[in-house]
Amino acid sequence: MKLSVPGRATAAAVVAAATLLTTGSIAGAAPASAPETAAAAPDLPVASVKAHLTQFQSIAAANGGNRAHGRAGYKASVDYVKAKLDAAGFTTTVQQFTSGGLTGYNLIADWPGGDTNQVIMAGSHLDSVASGAGINDNGSGSAAVLEAALTVARTNYQPTKHLRFAWWGAEERGLVGSRYYVNNLSSANRARISGYLNFDMIGSPNPGYFVYDDDPAIEKTFKDYFAGIGVATEIETEGDGRSDHAPFKSAGVPVGGLFTGASRAKTAAQVTKWGGTAGQAFDRCYHSSCDTTSNINDTALDRNSDALAYAVWELSS
Ligand code: ZN
Repeated sequence: MKLSVPGRATAAAVVAAATLLTTGSIAGAAPASAPETAAAAPDLPVASVKAHLTQFQSIAAANGGNRAHGRAGYKASVDYVKAKLDAAGFTTTVQQFTSGGLTGYNLIADWPGGDTNQVIMAGSHLDSVASGAGINDNGSGSAAVLEAALTVARTNYQPTKHLRFAWWGAEERGLVGSRYYVNNLSSANRARISGYLNFDMIGSPNPGYFVYDDDPAIEKTFKDYFAGIGVATEIETEGDGRSDHAPFKSAGVPVGGLFTGASRAKTAAQVTKWGGTAGQAFDRCYHSSCDTTSNINDTALDRNSDALAYAVWELSS
């Protein structure tokens, strides 16, 4: 869905419109050909994000029903995402590690250009638990980060900062892949990361709209987006440190992220804000075999995908 959020480009248009209203001319407005100071964040069509979820579901079905660390469905998920990124012009790296005697993989994709001393990262875990396909946890974040990256390429976005996208392995084994990545960064390369944005479970079927209460500037960027579409948010409290932002935060990198809830129950007050069912888990299929493409709230996935794109564009411009 196309949503209008006050950004820099929109603000310029508002000034031009106000000039037209007060003077009857657009003499004070910038010519239409003037270069934009910042590209407006794109709308990510939810259908495009869902198409990746359908692929993750098929990958699980063809590989014993899951996409778990050390299983064929995990590697097939990496191959799917990597092929899309390679075709779009990203520089991709597969980082191998071992956990529990099984080989795991992180997939890193750099968009060429921008100031490599100021890197903005967006990431999500690509592994599922062994009991199911992991479509909300965490096909949702993985698909939205992928679609944002593909949109960077499609629009040939040339940000001031350098963009890097990541898909982590073995999160479900205890944040193994993201910790491995952070531990293997040189201190110089760690210091170059200006922000890490995490997306783990962003399409929960009985959704809440939770923003991580970490770096204030990142948190504000997400809150601004949701305020612009008139959706209330709350601070994420269902287990701080339980996802891949934690190793970055421990290493001193500014972090933030979005979450629509896991096994905790939605309260009556939250239903008043967001609708849905009180006394029921945000995701009744959390870590279960029913975490399939049916386990997604399209509106939540759409809003969070667009918030992700907004933050990536705003923070990298
Ligand atoms: Zn999980």
